[in-house]
Amino acid sequence: MTKVADCRLPLHLPLNQKEATDTGAQAVERYPYNREKNVLIRRSTPDRSQRIRRIVQLLFVALNGLLGVQFLLWVRYFESGGNSMYVPRPAGVEGWLPIAGLMNLKYFLLTGHVPSIHPAAMFLFIAFVLMSLLLKKAFCAWLCPIGTLSEALWRLGRKVFGRNLRLHRWADIPLRGLKYLLLGFFVFVIGTMSAEALVGFMNTPYGLVADVKMLNFFRNMGQTAAIVLVLLALGSMLVQNFWCRYLCPYGALIGLVSVLSPVKIRRDAEACIDCAKCARACPAGLPVDHLVQIRSAECSACMECVAACPAQNALQFSLPARHAAAPAQRWFRRSVGPLAIAGIVAYIFFGLILIARATGHWQTNMPRDAYMNLMPHANEVTHPGI
Ligand code: SF4
Ligand code: SF4
Repeated sequence: MTKVADCRLPLHLPLNQKEATDTGAQAVERYPYNREKNVLIRRSTPDRSQRIRRIVQLLFVALNGLLGVQFLLWVRYFESGGNSMYVPRPAGVEGWLPIAGLMNLKYFLLTGHVPSIHPAAMFLFIAFVLMSLLLKKAFCAWLCPIGTLSEALWRLGRKVFGRNLRLHRWADIPLRGLKYLLLGFFVFVIGTMSAEALVGFMNTPYGLVADVKMLNFFRNMGQTAAIVLVLLALGSMLVQNFWCRYLCPYGALIGLVSVLSPVKIRRDAEACIDCAKCARACPAGLPVDHLVQIRSAECSACMECVAACPAQNALQFSLPARHAAAPAQRWFRRSVGPLAIAGIVAYIFFGLILIARATGHWQTNMPRDAYMNLMPHANEVTHPGI
């Protein structure tokens, strides 16, 4: 377990000096002296962040469930040669194609044209990156169904095993590097592709049915894939957010973007009573009680730390503090509450969908006949690079 040195901030430092803090996931600027503990001034209102976050997570899981059922019905229609109920293809499933989203974004930046295959993937990709730019990795803790499942698994693991494990730094840091390696691989491959290569890939049979291939992965799962998924589930029960922390390249990307977010978890040393409840509650294992702001790419804006904090104005998800003597004045109209997070996330998500729909770039532009020919052979289609 990582031990972090005490670096409580001296009361006499002006606020702008107190802002110089962490530079990464675990880095801490140390102060050479301790100070007396502050007197606890209890928060006046109970925290609602986790209840609101849970509602948003469940709504998004339900939305994905509906999209999944509609997509399955749409695929079944073509697989049955048109002998089952037809439903329109839900373009929202392209949110599960982040690599297509990145490829299409590069194509759009190079040519100024929105690609006709999987355009929704690009708009949803932009929406999720934009959220990270404004609200840290809120996408991971508030929307992503895999993040929600990971969270459910570590909570289940805590119930079953009585606790979760926290890996030692020598294992944790190299493992965290894995997701950046995966991200680097995808960025390198896509970065070296020309606009012609990108549009050419999207128009291959593999590119056209990339979403169906993903569905088939789960429908016709082989033994090896099933074993890997069981191991991942077990890892997620033992270690909090195992997949997100070590393996998710999408999380790695938006984590890097999230470092630029002006809104961060911020601790007011003058209101903090040094109880360390925030650090114990943090699923990312961040030393929240030792920092005045969390810049780490691992912070998912889950607000578990804020929910755990007993002191009024000691911890918040906020813009930088105002220059004022009293904590209440420092954070006045600076905090971003859970309802505001939910509102901003919804605004960006539905706003981008609206833009895509209004400009006629939401649906993939493919005739029904092409799907009718392609769909029964989706399993035989292989990656053009193989
Ligand atoms: S508990 Fe706080 S510091 Fe930890 S990931 Fe959640 S919001 Fe970030
Ligand atoms: S939970 Fe963290 S921020 Fe809140 S009083 Fe305790 S140590 Fe300070």
